[in-house]
Amino acid sequence: MKYYSTNKQAPMASLQEAVVKGLADDRGLFMPMTIKPLPQEFYDTIDTLSFQEIAYRVADAFFGEDIPADVLKQIVYDTLNFDVPLVRVTENIYSLELFHGPTLAFKDVGGRFMARLLGYFIRKEGQKNVNVLVATSGDTGSAVANGFLGVEGIHVYVLYPKGKVSEIQEKQFTTLGQNITALEVDGTFDDCQALVKAAFMDKELNEHLSLTSANSINVARFLPQAFYYFYAYAQLKRVGKADNAIICVPSGNFGNITAGLFGKKMGLPVKRFIAANNRNDIFYQYLQTGEYKPRPSVATIANAMDVGDPSNFARILDLYGNSHADITAEISGATYNDEQIRETVKTTWKEHHYLLDPHGACGYRALTEVLKPGETGVFLETAHPAKFLETVEGIIGETVEIPAKLQAFMNGEKKSLPMTKEFVGFKQYLLSI
Ligand SMILES: *Cc1c(COP(=O)(O)O)cnc(C)c1O
Repeated sequence: MKYYSTNKQAPMASLQEAVVKGLADDRGLFMPMTIKPLPQEFYDTIDTLSFQEIAYRVADAFFGEDIPADVLKQIVYDTLNFDVPLVRVTENIYSLELFHGPTLAFKDVGGRFMARLLGYFIRKEGQKNVNVLVATSGDTGSAVANGFLGVEGIHVYVLYPKGKVSEIQEKQFTTLGQNITALEVDGTFDDCQALVKAAFMDKELNEHLSLTSANSINVARFLPQAFYYFYAYAQLKRVGKADNAIICVPSGNFGNITAGLFGKKMGLPVKRFIAANNRNDIFYQYLQTGEYKPRPSVATIANAMDVGDPSNFARILDLYGNSHADITAEISGATYNDEQIRETVKTTWKEHHYLLDPHGACGYRALTEVLKPGETGVFLETAHPAKFLETVEGIIGETVEIPAKLQAFMNGEKKSLPMTKEFVGFKQYLLSI
């Protein structure tokens, strides 16, 4: 399969090139040339298949031309060694719990898949070592670091803003050691991202090192997120609720929902999607007005969605041929402030005894407001509520149990390298490795 750039000014790339490069030479995002629909037989029997079986069929449609079947199957099965259960919250609303992986958030799926795929390419080609640079405000760093942990030929550098991630998040990428190095930047998340971007643009560095990114712009990270949309549908079908399904996705950079839209293009019978935003409602405004106006992000309690210029917006535009009408026909939006998020977490806990995290709360609330009779809603519960312990405990006024997996990170010893936000220092460091 060839991949083209959303900016249409770069040559086509192979899967390997797209994965290793991350971003096309014209700064556009890679898109597969064709999106293969899955046969009716697959949808008819999907409820009899396991998560791994379903995911492999989807992975084969994306990557089957480029990866031998046995290798791809192994990658899929190794990536998805945890469940993604669909849990009923109310009569017609279900939570797709994406937080049963190693770092308790949905990014584990893409992080683990990308690590294994890149590992395969490196082994196959005898390619020189690859260095993954990732800037994080919390969740991405932990999912990528844990996904790549121990993968031969790849070293991961996680750049994070000093004092601006929670202790539990920090522990998830500073305690691992091996091929993971945490760089503690004296600056903001934007400074971290600027350092990573500058490194990718620097000619001397790129001659010296093979650098790649592991943000959701990378096709190997975002496409595998399609897997669980199909599995959600399979689980709805098992309980006789698959007709008129609406899927609601708490969105920041829009990688997650874009993977779901790919699923719809492959024939997944979803009636429509909802993108739930916090106060950073650039996409919501676009849906209302047809104008895309990025602006600096504001801090909210659903901080993984604090994005002012969603990187995957270009993919959504491309998928719908730049047609605002086509986009609004399949996607609607919602936006909630912190107060509304708090209120939703609180009442859902009180009335249904289901504990939402602040991101999932946006998704759940949108469904409660727009579902029509006969429709079934699924929202993606993107992280475990214990990852936002203080916020959630503060809202419900009760202590929240910390899952053993999360607790295990807390017992590790933090190791990080201090870094200023000046590029010269960062570059010097990279040149010395
Ligand atoms: C990353 C993240 C999101 C946003 O996902 P996008 O793919 O960037 O839209 C939502 N919730 C949580 C918990 C996240 O970590």
